[in-house]
Amino acid sequence: MTMTPQEALEQAALAGIHCMPVPTPFAIGLINCYLIEDEPLTLIDTGPNSGRSLDELTRMLNERDHSIDDIELIVITHQHLDHIGLVEILVEHSGAEVAAIGVAAERLAAFDEDAEKEDEFAVQVMLRNGIPEDVTVALRSVSRSFRDWGSHAVVTKPLVDGEGIVLRDRRLETLHRPGHSPSDTLFWDAERKILFCGDHLISNVSSNPLISRPLDGSERRTQALVTYIDSMKKTQAMAAEIAFSGHGEPITEHVALIDSRLAAHERRKEKIYKLIAEQGSPNGYELAQSIWGNVAVTQAFLTLSEVIGHADLLVNEGRVREAENGDVVRYEAC
Ligand SMILES: [Zn+2]
Repeated sequence: MTMTPQEALEQAALAGIHCMPVPTPFAIGLINCYLIEDEPLTLIDTGPNSGRSLDELTRMLNERDHSIDDIELIVITHQHLDHIGLVEILVEHSGAEVAAIGVAAERLAAFDEDAEKEDEFAVQVMLRNGIPEDVTVALRSVSRSFRDWGSHAVVTKPLVDGEGIVLRDRRLETLHRPGHSPSDTLFWDAERKILFCGDHLISNVSSNPLISRPLDGSERRTQALVTYIDSMKKTQAMAAEIAFSGHGEPITEHVALIDSRLAAHERRKEKIYKLIAEQGSPNGYELAQSIWGNVAVTQAFLTLSEVIGHADLLVNEGRVREAENGDVVRYEAC
């Protein structure tokens, strides 16, 4: 018998793990922070940089007889601003150590400059894939307006893949599983079969494999979906009983959930292959429009990331090739 999400939360509470959902300004809604009552007192992810989030987090900590000053260790699952936004403020109050995958440390420390570079990169990707310039300009200003919800984070405990974070009563193994973002990191409590998975898996929505700059500083874009599928297969092989996600309810059947995510990507890949074959040499923007119609500006990069991700799979399988036509990439069936 698998547990219900409610039973999973109750079981975790007995092990000192408490889910603390805080509000975000984003469509995804609440982001889950997790307090681990252990030594050191640990918080996984922080919520966005806003007064409301800080108030909510403070209130939930107070309910458990803690204040934000008591936090001793902050663990970061990935670079997105709804997860790191309060790091700076929490560290100012508490002096907490900050643990995150070391390969992302430089970028987390330079959040503003990095966000600017990431936006520039996104514009180049969009233009190369046929998105009209006015859409890229609008999207960039939307992105700038969100940036204040982030903040830089100085990582004092850079982690490597496979490294353990040792607390008094437990050990969390660091697992770098990029895909949704290049810095996605899972934390695995093998003894309790509990996995903290950030946005790597979300119970009610498919995580977006966002096209991003690689962490190694090279300018070539990541094959985000290809990487993400590899990462999901590794996670599927784990004996997790509960996966605590960055958004939504705990996942108690991760094997079945990953099966359904993989099947959905397979279907979408075949749909995109069919569109490429029918249309001759569409670009990414045309493919996105064929699938989703004229989406809101804010969705333009997400839908393009989806298209490019599936086209990458087809290119790697040798079924589709990229053809440069002027400054725009077009896809052709082989
Ligand atoms: Zn995320």
